Amino acid sequence: MAGKELAALLGRETIKGEVMTDEALSKHTSLRIGGPVAAMVFPEDPVSLKNLLSAAAEDDIPVFVIGAGTNLLVTDERIDGIAVSLEAFDRLSVTEEAEDDVTVFAGAGLQLWRLVNFAKEKGYSGIEALAGIPGSLGGAVFMNAGSFGVEIKDVLVSITVMNRYGKIAPLAAGNLRFSYRRSNLPEGMVILGASIRLKKSDPSEVEAKVNECLRKKRLTQPLGEASAGCVFKNPEGENAGRLIDLAGCKGMRAGGAEVSGMHANYFINKGNATCKDFIELMDRVREKVKEKSGITLEPEIKIIGKNLN
Ligand SMILES: Cc1cc2nc3c(=O)[nH]c(=O)nc-3n(C[C@H](O)[C@H](O)[C@H](O)COP(=O)(O)OP(=O)(O)OC[C@H]3O[C@@H](n4cnc5c(N)ncnc54)[C@H](O)[C@@H]3O)c2cc1C
Repeated sequence: MAGKELAALLGRETIKGEVMTDEALSKHTSLRIGGPVAAMVFPEDPVSLKNLLSAAAEDDIPVFVIGAGTNLLVTDERIDGIAVSLEAFDRLSVTEEAEDDVTVFAGAGLQLWRLVNFAKEKGYSGIEALAGIPGSLGGAVFMNAGSFGVEIKDVLVSITVMNRYGKIAPLAAGNLRFSYRRSNLPEGMVILGASIRLKKSDPSEVEAKVNECLRKKRLTQPLGEASAGCVFKNPEGENAGRLIDLAGCKGMRAGGAEVSGMHANYFINKGNATCKDFIELMDRVREKVKEKSGITLEPEIKIIGKNLN
């Protein structure tokens, strides 16, 4: 991609919002890993996002959406493209109220904990188990985030998406074929927001459930350290953390990346880990688990490579 093309695109007055050039993505991921991206853009509104996406499509400039970066492993090499953050898309409102339930619309950039807190304060039940999952609502929908047997798909009514030419459309949750940590969102779609349905309940009961989920997470997960959550998906009927532990990998290290001693499916950046270290550790753990249990682990984290694949 020519620098001139990118500068012309970013200079357009029709794209409102902050622009950072050669921004280190390590500053935007919970793992604190990631090299520079040619540009990171924070569109202020849907029109600016539309203008950005359509101009990038016209000029063949690769674009990817970054949520809160809590499930990402980003390459150390420079990414010749645009990272888009929807931080400004953080609306939260009740759009429909029935006797027993409410429908809430939340923007993709809203932090999931804000939605969980809102539901807790109002006494709306359904997403208590998602308490403690970091990240944005857009990321949670894209990843079909879940915990304690509840996934975001369970409460989702529909999402609003924008395609790479800026066209906005609603998509019913039923058409998305959600599966374990997957939304099957069509390629190039950006989630703008989601409608979710929650049951009216007793605020103290909702609060008790939220607190219980948070308590369990604090006991079992290294929440204070730099990680991207679970590295591998749980194989059908198995638990990836248990398999990694059984294979003797707790504490295993590659450069600055280490398998957590607290939860074996969490790999920690001990301070100076690179993407290369992290991938080496993933490969070694996968090999050990295969040797010990015959099971091949699949990554849960999203790997963002130089070529954005
Ligand atoms: C300490 C810790 C604990 C965690 N615990 C859990 C857990 O219990 N359960 C769980 O499921 N996950 C867990 N995770 C993983 C992670 O928090 C979730 O997957 C989260 O939903 C990711 O959201 P994000 O905004 O950070 O997405 P990102 O990591 O920024 O992005 C993830 C993917 O979503 C895409 N994406 C993000 N926003 C949009 C959008 N608006 N439109 C289109 N695509 C988009 C990105 O392109 C990327 O492919 C944990 C992570 C950490 C660090």
